[in-house]
Amino acid sequence: MEIRPVAVPGYERVVRVSDPDARLLAFIAVHDTTLGPSLGGMRMWPYRAEEEALTDVLRLARGMTYKSAVAEMALGGGKAVVIGDGRRQKTEALFLSMGRAIESLGGRYLTAEDVGVNERDLEIVRRETRWVTGLASGSGNPSPFTARGGLFGMRACAEEVFGSPSLRGLRVAIHGVGAVGGALAQLLHAEGARLVVADIDAEKAQAIARETGAEIVSDEAIFEAPCDLFSPNALGGVLNDRTIPRLRCRIVAGCANNQLLDETRDGAALRDRGILYAPDFVINAGGIINVGCELLPGGYDGQESTRRIDRIADHLREVFRIGRAEGIPNAAAALRLAERRLAEGRKRRPKA
Ligand code: NAD
Repeated sequence: MEIRPVAVPGYERVVRVSDPDARLLAFIAVHDTTLGPSLGGMRMWPYRAEEEALTDVLRLARGMTYKSAVAEMALGGGKAVVIGDGRRQKTEALFLSMGRAIESLGGRYLTAEDVGVNERDLEIVRRETRWVTGLASGSGNPSPFTARGGLFGMRACAEEVFGSPSLRGLRVAIHGVGAVGGALAQLLHAEGARLVVADIDAEKAQAIARETGAEIVSDEAIFEAPCDLFSPNALGGVLNDRTIPRLRCRIVAGCANNQLLDETRDGAALRDRGILYAPDFVINAGGIINVGCELLPGGYDGQESTRRIDRIADHLREVFRIGRAEGIPNAAAALRLAERRLAEGRKRRPKA
């Protein structure tokens, strides 16, 4: 196996991992450990070129730094990407090799699940390194926790726009009812919200409709569904110059990562349309908060995790306050809040 450093300005450590015997080619990026060890999932994806994988790991690792900073977790940002098709190219040798690569970073990077990598794969990684989180023996599947954070975030949004945190009677359009969107739909139903859902997987949409009485629309019609709150929980990039003009909502609040195709342009477009945007990395931090609670001095603590997840509402209120005070879109305000938390961390723990 060869672990070769890649020099990237602004990143603490980036390595290219190759192990031809295990058919492994991967990148691990540690963006910033000012606030603690970097934690972020391992993604397996059929990138067409190494350059594309490197770009993705850098973007994702930086996003994790901001997400954990705003969530006030003592964590930094990191990520790993494995080049390959998660449905066809997984082998035990590949994940063992990945485990050895993570171990070589000495705890600076802790891994977790991400697209294409599941708990079974992480159990294999765990045989070579203890720097693995989110296993069944630890905090388990993060999705219900992400959904809970989404619900508390939505309450803060409702309070900001309608003057009350109650979601009762509000109409919520949910784009994507998978692990997170489905759990969110159930929580919203229990709160008395009225739902309209879309998913390219018709069975998932139907199952949610049966459980919650949601109306089902197509994955295009959902963008035009009249509603109080539009909630993206499928893929990234769904808020763009094609979809934002069609939205008929007062709030956008969901748990998908990287919802804005262009952070600056689309963040401003939402504000200009008078739509309150809950920045994705603030509202979708429930999963990382839960996984991060495995690193508490006494080990994983479910109650403490819940307490911290519920504070996502406070973090969003702070974002809205900064946005108002500085006259900037919420997407920019969230970045400012993250940078501020990092600057405070640097002051507390000056680096050598
Ligand atoms: P998932 O794969 O379980 O669910 C995604 C759902 O979106 C699926 O049901 C899929 O069929 C649907 N979908 C895909 N493309 C669609 C389209 N064009 N229109 C409508 N539906 C579509 O994944 P998940 O774990 O629920 O994650 C959802 C999003 O939340 C992702 O962006 C993920 O990065 C983000 N996220 C997840 C977590 C977590 O804890 N799982 C944490 C933070 C962020």
